[in-house]
Amino acid sequence: MIPFNKPYLSGNELTYIQHAVESGKISGDGMFTQKCHQFFEEKYGFEKVLLTSSCTDALEMAAILLDIQAGDEIIAPSYTFVSTVNAFVLRGATIVFVDCGLENPNMDVSQIEALITPKTKAIVVVHYAGIACNMDAIMKIANRHELKVVEDAAQCIDSYYRGKPLGSFGQLAAFSFHETKNIISGEGGMLCINDQNYIHRAEIIREKGTNRSAFFRGGVDKYSWVDIGSSFLPSDMVAAFLCAQLENLERLQQKRIGIWETYYTGLSELAKQGLVGLPHIPAYATNNAHIFYLVCNSITERTNLMNHLKAKGIQAIFHYQSLHSSPYFQDKYKGAELTQADKYSDCLLRLPLFYELEQAQVAYIVECVHEFYKNQA
Ligand SMILES: *Cc1c(COP(=O)(O)O)cnc(C)c1O
Repeated sequence: MIPFNKPYLSGNELTYIQHAVESGKISGDGMFTQKCHQFFEEKYGFEKVLLTSSCTDALEMAAILLDIQAGDEIIAPSYTFVSTVNAFVLRGATIVFVDCGLENPNMDVSQIEALITPKTKAIVVVHYAGIACNMDAIMKIANRHELKVVEDAAQCIDSYYRGKPLGSFGQLAAFSFHETKNIISGEGGMLCINDQNYIHRAEIIREKGTNRSAFFRGGVDKYSWVDIGSSFLPSDMVAAFLCAQLENLERLQQKRIGIWETYYTGLSELAKQGLVGLPHIPAYATNNAHIFYLVCNSITERTNLMNHLKAKGIQAIFHYQSLHSSPYFQDKYKGAELTQADKYSDCLLRLPLFYELEQAQVAYIVECVHEFYKNQA
């Protein structure tokens, strides 16, 4: 069976974990955490980053930092992972969902402005598959209405909008290092803080509402409970794993991009014939090869294709039941029909994509997809 995903040890993961253990300091903010912070701040120019235990944690920190209160409204896509909006629901926010655009699953920017009310506090942007949303347009709307922008950049490592790294546009951004992402630490995440005004409080929220970070830097002579917060920081053993992955970022990315391009070339004939939809990457966006997906013409076709691939030993999977029609939200949803989000929920299929997937296996998967559509005709 060719699995959908397979976590890859890139080299020094176990060695660094051993170093962390032997250093005698395995709780948060040890040497490896510092190294990861430095890597991200230097390579991508993020104002300040803080590792968290997950992207979900980073999003929850963002909601606290923005002082989201009961009744505040948040504009966000419906076609996304639950944490994108659950972080804000935890603070009592009302979620106002936006549909996907026509060219790819990213949100339809042209719908945003009509959804803004006096209660709107923030726009949460998701760059689906690591492919940038139209950030010039989104930042313009946010600035005009004095709204904050949070990027759910879970899938966005090493991806750019007009040459500027994703995760550097919003006041706050959240990355994921979950084992299904490009760069991993098992569970793991990071908050990027691009507005200096949030840095001080972010450190406190991440340390259970205490000023412990300042205490360890020698900034205060004892540490106290000064705000709300939680335990959002990862163990240094997790950071050690991540540090080893980051050393090999270029190689991991090159390999994924190679696989992605083989899929794209191999399936483009089917797209030309209108049999499947392929990812669209706007001219302003880069491709970090997080996901390779195709879009079938119906849910039945997708189910049949998935079953065909399964019979051939290939695990292809779909995702994101649109959040506005989830069991938790469907009774609360008062907005318009979100036809594009529903289309991607029903028709999008992700093909295996991981470092150790061989080109011969990719060619085989492409062949099996072709075979399916030949039999359809
Ligand atoms: C993976 C993912 C998350 C959640 O990341 P965790 O690190 O597992 O919390 C959130 N949003 C999006 C868009 C994701 O792809």
